[in-house]
Amino acid sequence: MTAKAEMRLVDGLQLALERQALHMVYQPKVSMRDGSLAQVEALVRWDDPELGTVGPARFVPLAEQHGLIDDLTQWGLRRILRQWLDWRQEGIDACIAFNISALSLQHLDFPDLVERMCRGLNVPTDRIVLELTEGATQPLVKMMDALTRFRIKGIGLAIDDFGTGYSSLMQLRQLPFTEVKIDQAFIADAPHSRDCRLIIQSVAELAKGLGLTTTAEGVETIEQLRIVRELGCDYVQGYLVSPPLEPTALKAWTSKFRRAWPAMIAEERLALWGDVEADSLG
Ligand code: C2E
Ligand code: CA
Ligand code: CA
Repeated sequence: MTAKAEMRLVDGLQLALERQALHMVYQPKVSMRDGSLAQVEALVRWDDPELGTVGPARFVPLAEQHGLIDDLTQWGLRRILRQWLDWRQEGIDACIAFNISALSLQHLDFPDLVERMCRGLNVPTDRIVLELTEGATQPLVKMMDALTRFRIKGIGLAIDDFGTGYSSLMQLRQLPFTEVKIDQAFIADAPHSRDCRLIIQSVAELAKGLGLTTTAEGVETIEQLRIVRELGCDYVQGYLVSPPLEPTALKAWTSKFRRAWPAMIAEERLALWGDVEADSLG
């Protein structure tokens, strides 16, 4: 990207933040045990009238580099807390997982800020899980203090994209995470790579031993679902279960998915899940 194109994006993002033109979609994460909804992960979306749809993988790093990440994070937090309240009124009580930049952890008062925002809106802190990816420049071990303070406040902590960066099995023992999300690259390769299957199994076993839960990310096929289930992952997330959804679609999805899950597990998916997809959500 040229410097000019980059600045256009940064200016556009700043405007979008000021005008509240971003929105969140939510991807369900379900329990391997019974297919029940365990969490939803909030994923930010930016549809710009001039620039078109810009994905978070492009604009979140720019927000980090150009001093917009704190505004983005605070907007996102307010958004998801209000969403949690709306869903609770509709009888949906799932935890919301929210991606945060490791940069936010450099502010010493960030854990207090999150707690204050939860209190302000009357959202119990244990309904929120923060997902963190280790950046090359900010090893998570250096964030121990902030991570511990989140845990003391009852906020869940997930280590995202596990296996890609510098994150190691050793860190699972040292750091106060509650959940490990195995990166989708391992899930994609699992059907034809014995090494990947071994890695998934070791992570799931160690995590269990340490009292953490394991999520398999990016599960797209029945075969991948069967493999990660056999290897001991607790939760599954990916297009097979559901793409990220607009908030209004979640309730309809929940009741339809409950019907589909037993067949998915029995690998008779084609008959039942096909019907479910044919019904329009909503
Ligand atoms: P992530 O946290 O690892 O999120 C998973 C990404 O994989 C999402 O892309 C999701 O839409 C996509 N995905 C889900 N299931 C599947 C699947 O079965 N197959 C494939 N191929 N992809 C799947 P998305 O929404 O484009 O987000 C990209 C990244 O941007 C996220 O990766 C996260 O690191 C970051 N991000 C998203 N929203 C936020 C946010 O609100 N704040 C911050 N700081 N980062 C965010
Ligand atoms: Ca994530
Ligand atoms: Ca991930």
